[in-house]
Amino acid sequence: MSFIENPELRRAFTDFFTKESPVEKLRATENSDNPIVGFDSNLWEKVRTLGIPGLAIEGASLSDLAVIAECAGRQLAPVPIVESFVALRLIDRVDKKQITKKMISGESIVTISLSPVKNMSASLVPAGLISDAVVALSGNDLIIAKSESKYIATVAPSSMGQVSFVDHEVLENGLIAQSAFDEALTDWRILRASALVGLGNGALALGIEYVQSRQQFDVPVGSFQAVQHQLADLATDHQGASLLVTAAATETDVSRRALLARMAYWFAGRSARAITKTVLHFHGGYGFMLEYDPQLFFRLATAWSIELGDPASELNSLADELDLSGWVLPDLYPSSFRLEVRKFLAANCPPEVVEKAHSSGTMHNWELHRALAHQGLLAADWPVEMGGQNRNPGEMFELGEELARVGAPIDGWGISNLVAHTLNRVGTEAQKKEIIPSILRGEVLCALGYSEPDAGSDVAATITFAQSCGDDWIINGQKVFTTLAHESNYIFLLTRTNRELSKHRGLTMFLVPTNTPGLEVVPIETLGGERTNMTFYSDVRVHDSCRVGEINGGWDVMGVALAYERNPTMVGELGLLCAQFAAWARESGALERPAVRARLASAVVDYQVGRLFGGQLTAKVAQGELPYLEGSMAKLFASEALVRAASDFVDATGASGQLALGSPGAPGGGWIEHAHRHAQVTTIHAGTSEIQRSIIAERGLGLPRSRGN
Ligand SMILES: Cc1cc2nc3c(=O)[nH]c(=O)nc-3n(C[C@H](O)[C@H](O)[C@H](O)COP(=O)(O)OP(=O)(O)OC[C@H]3O[C@@H](n4cnc5c(N)ncnc54)[C@H](O)[C@@H]3O)c2cc1C
Repeated sequence: MSFIENPELRRAFTDFFTKESPVEKLRATENSDNPIVGFDSNLWEKVRTLGIPGLAIEGASLSDLAVIAECAGRQLAPVPIVESFVALRLIDRVDKKQITKKMISGESIVTISLSPVKNMSASLVPAGLISDAVVALSGNDLIIAKSESKYIATVAPSSMGQVSFVDHEVLENGLIAQSAFDEALTDWRILRASALVGLGNGALALGIEYVQSRQQFDVPVGSFQAVQHQLADLATDHQGASLLVTAAATETDVSRRALLARMAYWFAGRSARAITKTVLHFHGGYGFMLEYDPQLFFRLATAWSIELGDPASELNSLADELDLSGWVLPDLYPSSFRLEVRKFLAANCPPEVVEKAHSSGTMHNWELHRALAHQGLLAADWPVEMGGQNRNPGEMFELGEELARVGAPIDGWGISNLVAHTLNRVGTEAQKKEIIPSILRGEVLCALGYSEPDAGSDVAATITFAQSCGDDWIINGQKVFTTLAHESNYIFLLTRTNRELSKHRGLTMFLVPTNTPGLEVVPIETLGGERTNMTFYSDVRVHDSCRVGEINGGWDVMGVALAYERNPTMVGELGLLCAQFAAWARESGALERPAVRARLASAVVDYQVGRLFGGQLTAKVAQGELPYLEGSMAKLFASEALVRAASDFVDATGASGQLALGSPGAPGGGWIEHAHRHAQVTTIHAGTSEIQRSIIAERGLGLPRSRGN
């Protein structure tokens, strides 16, 4: 069983390194009385006693080794874990006979030279100072060599050495040697990325602890939003790095693993660098004192993230590999469900449907909606007895991806489905019996009536009032941005029902039929082309059976609905945008430009990370839980990544990027320009990025509430 499936084993390694390798151990290796900087021989003895080096070739998978590298990385353990794992796996791949018992036990340390040998010497060999043997590429040969090494001072405490080979044996040559070495570099990227994730984790913990205890202006500095929001961004990227490393380490297809490894190493390096830089900063002047730990994390993150060269070059190499494989990672084995959905969309969602949605601004198409219902896809995640297909969250994720891939206008479905799920949790029996089935049959659409002119992010400040009147309620007020109200049968309306109670307690939710007299819908046009609406309520009378949840319990209902809303459809939009941009860049020749390649590669990495966040979200839902934190991270990451990519891409199109959607000659048919306008709003609706950051800071990092009451 892999360590990933077995949290006990992960915990055991975490405990081991936490106990045996406090960060001071690394600092101590810089003392003048320590024989070798960056190496603690006592700790290595303990690592050996546990049999860790030998796990590289027996008893552990690559993902298991990644877990160990992460645990060691968190503590900046001054032992050559990654070096020996990679070297042993490489020798094992090409010539098992060369592996000695001493190597397996770690008595002989073996390492790898990341750069090719020149004149029988190699510079910057990781763990070169302490190794008994080095595996390296020398011309066409893969060699294993005994070596003499010289100390070189480096940015971080490290046993890196300048190595001269005194005696060597050829393990393999030619193409086999090269491909074995390439595979070893893939291992290196994955394991080092994992160590960087561990390092980032350790640095984040250090930063969070410090900002909670350090007081300025009579409050913890961690209560300032400027501090919290940066930490929330870092924690989100860090989580993304962790997901990407796991994806790379568990990937079984060799070429796909190589791609994911490059992504993971680049992304984890960038994340760890950003974390350590910020944590250093949040320690104020003290972070720079050598007695404090942040500077150690900072130095090591720098070293680890550039040891394979300029990260920008890594990104360009990634672009080359992506180019060969079709840019956006293809699904090697699309499931039968995906194929079924693709077939359905080919028949029911031609480009005209998408174009019509964009020209009207209404991201809903009744024909498509009904066809989805007819196919059983509208209710795909619902039980069979409710007309659904009982699809699991993973399949729902696939469905969402396929819909996004063709740009299907499905906002109406998304909103109505979240209302249906909320009713299923908190609605009355009558609502469950009548309204949910009509939503799932594709007959009924819902809009969300939360936002008001003076109640946006602080939606609990709602003043639209519902007055009890016998068995009825009379509603007066105004909502803004009630998207799709002009197509909907119901508005899921948040109202105030008690002005005496506290802000969050005096709210009640209703499902208001849009044909009720007194309800008026007025269009709003927006930057991204989407139509939304103002909705006005003048003595709108609804029966109490329209109430959802308890009287004055509207905030609890909102909590359920919001958890369902943070499913980030922007990831699919990002994938589609990457594909559109790649097609334009190839056709126009812009892809030849390194800056364009790097932009595309960076966006594709974000897309992969966004997908993994989506997977994490669906896994949480599969456990029957509401994904509050996961939802916020997924939404924040996806929307900010979409904004980044759209901005990068529109820049890359240059002056012609000004040509609007529909103009002849507009790059990518104008979809890039359109995406740039549309992307901005994704950081606003369904909770702005600032609100998501606050939620992450509070729920994920345990920092005090900073967004008012
Ligand atoms: C195209 C579109 C469609 C929409 N669809 C719907 C819909 O269907 N139903 C619906 O109810 N609403 C909808 N909305 C509304 C959307 O949810 C709100 O716009 C959003 O919640 C922000 O509210 P606001 O616009 O009032 O901005 P404000 O809340 O006034 O925020 C202004 C700025 O201040 C920042 N800010 C606010 N509070 C804090 C804080 N505590 N800490 C730090 N920064 C803060 C925000 O992040 C933002 O940058 C839609 C909006 C748009 C643009």
